[in-house]
Amino acid sequence: MANNIKVVKFGGSSLADAGQFAKVLEIIRADESRRYVVPSAPGKRFAGDRKVTDLLYGCYDLASDGESIDKEFEEIANRYRDIINGLGLNLSLEDEFERIKQAFIHHAGRDYAASRGEYLCGLILAAALGYDFVDPATVIFFGDNGVFDGERTNVVLRCLMADHERAVVPGFYGSMPNDTIKTFSRGGSDITGAIVARAVNADVYENWTDVSGFLMADPRIVENPKRIDRITYRELRELSYMGATVLHEDSVLPVRIAGIPINIRNTNDPSAPGTMIVADDSHDCDKIITGIAGKRGFSVITIEKDLMNSELGFGRRVLEVLEKQGISFEHLPSGIDTMSVIIASSTLEGRREKIIDEICAICRPDNISIESGIALIAVVGHGMVSTKGTAARVFGAISKADINIRMIDQGSCELNIIIGVNENDFEGTIRAIYNEFV
Ligand code: ASP
Repeated sequence: MANNIKVVKFGGSSLADAGQFAKVLEIIRADESRRYVVPSAPGKRFAGDRKVTDLLYGCYDLASDGESIDKEFEEIANRYRDIINGLGLNLSLEDEFERIKQAFIHHAGRDYAASRGEYLCGLILAAALGYDFVDPATVIFFGDNGVFDGERTNVVLRCLMADHERAVVPGFYGSMPNDTIKTFSRGGSDITGAIVARAVNADVYENWTDVSGFLMADPRIVENPKRIDRITYRELRELSYMGATVLHEDSVLPVRIAGIPINIRNTNDPSAPGTMIVADDSHDCDKIITGIAGKRGFSVITIEKDLMNSELGFGRRVLEVLEKQGISFEHLPSGIDTMSVIIASSTLEGRREKIIDEICAICRPDNISIESGIALIAVVGHGMVSTKGTAARVFGAISKADINIRMIDQGSCELNIIIGVNENDFEGTIRAIYNEFV
């Protein structure tokens, strides 16, 4: 390893109670290079339980309405007291609880409230490990517009972390130019982990969660799908876009810029190698497809017009109608005299007629229709570029399953093939493709 530095981020389920905390401490202590730790707030301990972040939002909302928060705040404080006692730590957070409660009562802000979940978790971890505590409010910055300021953060954080051999940096939040607290969107501790990994130039960013990595397909659809050992950032983006989520989408960029691999690991099964997310996977040639993901809920606008292909600007005019409505399109398969635009059905709500009327007025098509109930499935794998017959195998498998394909889209980069089917064929299609390749 070049720098012998690992940044380790632990998700809420890994920190849900003292038992989970104990696993986390063991994982960190098992490897000297796990020098920087980014915790989420305690998550659910059992089905039906509530995440501390949700409790904090609820409690703050009560305070904003001027109601008493005694009971709700106690519930939150007790989550932390149970962890401290369960670990047998000589630590009291009572002063912190009181300060935070007063801040709630004096309306310190909803983001401030939510951020305390990670903050308190970080204090416990730092005490248990004997690591320094770095408050992200002092090193992670948002601009006046509320957008994360990656460059300023990187300069300041890099400089500060050089003074800390080992540190805990709570996830999920930073500060605004006026020093108020601002959080990322939900699940944003993943982003903090990536930011810290970039700043300390880590060899790897380990993201510890409750699954042993990315799976090749959704386990609710395919029984026992294989784990993906290695995946590139680009493949990951394709699969996440189509619904396969383990990581916050915005967490890839900081480490991608720095070329740092992400390793998804399972706190409940630490010996499993998990999934490695890397920049380039060209040496792994035997693998043709990396994963399959998909989503329901798409609609196709089909437009026909004789001699469409010679009418300059036709496509632009159609897309302009959608743009004016604030609708972005997903795919655009076309024929000589036909054009199909695939969009999320939710974006059409209440605007179907208007869109048809406007396209008719501007483009004068011979025919136009909108059909909903389409599911899209992405077969992703950079190995498809160099392998003949992949498309044939995908379509053969779907045909053998007696499923009718409604749309096909494959870009020339050949990272993925997108297939549209009727929504009721969604699961069958994924299973057919998976069984063909795995
Ligand atoms: N605690 C925050 C949430 O529940 C952030 C995170 O867990 O990453 O969304």
